[in-house]
Amino acid sequence: VAIAVTRERREGETRCAVTPETVKKLIALGATVSVEAGTGIGSSIPDADYAEAGATVKPDTRAVLDGADVLLKVRGPTAQETSALKPGAIVIAMLDAYREKDTVEALKGANATAFAMEFVPRITRAQVMDVLSSQANLAGYRAVIEAAYAFGKGFPMMMTAAGTVAPAKVFVMGVGVAGLQAIATARRLGAVVTATDVRPATKEQVESLGAKFLAVEDEEFRNAQTAGGYAKPMSPEYQAKQAVLTGEHIRKQDIVITTALIPGRAAPVLVSAEQVASMKPGSVLIDLAVEAGGNVAGAKAGEVVTTANGVSIVGYTNLPGRIAADASALYARNLVAFVGLMVKDGALTLDLEDEILKAAVVTHGGAVVHEGVKG
Ligand code: NAD
Repeated sequence: VAIAVTRERREGETRCAVTPETVKKLIALGATVSVEAGTGIGSSIPDADYAEAGATVKPDTRAVLDGADVLLKVRGPTAQETSALKPGAIVIAMLDAYREKDTVEALKGANATAFAMEFVPRITRAQVMDVLSSQANLAGYRAVIEAAYAFGKGFPMMMTAAGTVAPAKVFVMGVGVAGLQAIATARRLGAVVTATDVRPATKEQVESLGAKFLAVEDEEFRNAQTAGGYAKPMSPEYQAKQAVLTGEHIRKQDIVITTALIPGRAAPVLVSAEQVASMKPGSVLIDLAVEAGGNVAGAKAGEVVTTANGVSIVGYTNLPGRIAADASALYARNLVAFVGLMVKDGALTLDLEDEILKAAVVTHGGAVVHEGVKG
């Protein structure tokens, strides 16, 4: 099996789909690995390290893709990459298939079998391939680092001869994988942390990390988690009660980190323009949901907005890409586990009835086969 990895070409994409460690693992599966020169630049991996691990480093995309059976990428392939694939080639990436219709159409047209890593089901067997978790965890960590950087004060309480520096107050809204890591990181830096979510299971998780839980705990809250472990969209009545509770709290916070998402829907707006305006000058909001429409009114994807009252709203879109070396290392390991489902002793054995592959396949045999993407 010939596996190819090309350089990421999307603006600001610093991650890569293979590391020297995973080159060795792919070779151990019986594959050969070709890597385009410069693939690891954003993750501080020199070409020579790939070569030393056993990959063939090639100068350009066409040379890498020539004869490739499998293309591994972080983001969906460009039109040029897709057109250079041999018919029936396998593509594995975070395709963002609901939004990137053109990429999906091109892959269909090229007769590629394309897998979207974001569709890997969150079942126990697939945990090792769960890119949503591996990347969200790092995003949660990085959100706190960005907040600390943008904030003109310290996080920990510091008692000095010149007086005491008060600890920062951090409020995390949405306690999934990213939110939990944000709580843990803010606590490690010494902040006083509170958090909210609509899923009751998060209360204990928040408290076990030494943070205080704050939520409207009514009947709707007690039923807000789906069988899949995700949040349901909340009623306007609930959202109104939530806004009253959190509004009073947000006013007193230094940092607010929002991570609230609902699968397949726009992100709920959790911080209104009035609540932003109620915050002290110098306060910082980090909106991790900005690409899904945003949890914070006024957040702009890819930008840091400073409001009239001196509050910063940080809308960076690729937080894992701001900790690229680790994000690449974890993503590349997720990919090796996924490739392991279809490569045995150096041969391709593609079983599209396997429940993980079945959930993740988007195009196959010249058609879009994923129900959600089709619809
Ligand atoms: P997510 O990214 O979909 O959402 C982030 C958080 O936002 C969730 O905790 C959600 O409840 C919360 N949220 C949604 N609407 C909200 C609102 N109006 N107000 C406040 N908070 C709101 O979540 P995720 O990080 O992908 O995790 C979702 C679930 O999946 C969790 O239960 C997690 O433990 C579970 N999970 C399971 C596995 C596995 O079993 N393999 C792996 C990863 C995550």
